[in-house]
Amino acid sequence: MKLLLLTIATFLTFYGCNTPKKMETQVESTTVTTTTSSVRSAVKKPKNIIFLVGDGMGLSQITAGMYSNQDKLNLERMKTIGLHKSHAANSLVTDSAAGATAFACGQKTYNGAIAVDIDTLPISTILEEAEMKMLATGLVSTSTIVHATPASYIAHNKYRRNYEEIAADFLKTEIDCFIGGGAKYFNNRDDGRDLLQELRDKGYQVGDYFNNELDTMKIAEGKNFAFLTSLDDPLPVSQGRDYLEKASLMAINALDKKDNGFFLMIEGSQIDWGGHANDADFIVSEMIDFDNTLGAVLDWAEQDGETLVVVTADHETGGFAIQKGSTREKLVTAFTSDYHTAEMICVFAHGPKEELFRGIYDNTAIYHKMREAYGWPDITASK
Ligand SMILES: [Zn+2]
Repeated sequence: MKLLLLTIATFLTFYGCNTPKKMETQVESTTVTTTTSSVRSAVKKPKNIIFLVGDGMGLSQITAGMYSNQDKLNLERMKTIGLHKSHAANSLVTDSAAGATAFACGQKTYNGAIAVDIDTLPISTILEEAEMKMLATGLVSTSTIVHATPASYIAHNKYRRNYEEIAADFLKTEIDCFIGGGAKYFNNRDDGRDLLQELRDKGYQVGDYFNNELDTMKIAEGKNFAFLTSLDDPLPVSQGRDYLEKASLMAINALDKKDNGFFLMIEGSQIDWGGHANDADFIVSEMIDFDNTLGAVLDWAEQDGETLVVVTADHETGGFAIQKGSTREKLVTAFTSDYHTAEMICVFAHGPKEELFRGIYDNTAIYHKMREAYGWPDITASK
């Protein structure tokens, strides 16, 4: 499926209309916010965590997005920076499934594993644990919602491509909100089940791209919400996909109405697909879409004051490099691979307890750091 998306590459989307919001006013407000947030973080734990994953977003992808966006990204608003070691249990080069399982469950596993350990046994995820602690939970992605990254927070499967089994696992939790592609895995299945109807029967408000505009959907107060943005893979942003920012804000506002705090994972899925395609324009347009979404999330979180925002990637994709002769107008790029690489990955944090994310650590530590930020008992020994 991914290969079908490689035909795209318009040059229009990423030059011009993508300056991050609030750049003009940001210089002044950043200073103030940083001071208050570091004072705050010394004494306070976050009520909410918003965890953003740019799939395949290595440092070169970030750099290319930045230079192509007038030398500025919203990522620069995040002052706490670390690096994680992205390797899987069975390979130095991870895939998105093992990478997401590390973030979601705190364990290294094999490539292809969805929240199961190296013996294929299910392991609890931070989203499931948040549910048990009565927090509201959500997933938003620009891939299918059953794709490896979102799947690893809510499903348990020995193999990432068992999409229909993964979709069925969405019925086993009380996830409050999910928005992403892949409707066909819910309502056009080999087993004949209609999971969208089953979600409705469970009390969910359900919408899909075929019958509803995401823009016009209003989440009824207190209701759980599911929205499927496409039949299969969502389009690249260069072909008109434009929902990541609004879906993220919809999810945040819905989750925030439920009183106990929330955990939300937001994935910019297709930075990775640009890397697989060795298509620098694809990478840049998806990188800027992800960063614009981050800007809106940071605006909300700074206003809220009780929300920790963490941004990272599962791995780099493409062995992407920005070469001699590059200008801001035209990057000269090269790739060493059409797959992922093993380079260390940046982690950015902003908000209460952000200081936990300094330094160099394994990808699995991100799970434990998020738990520690929430103030949940340490379970390192049992995991
Ligand atoms: Zn990939």
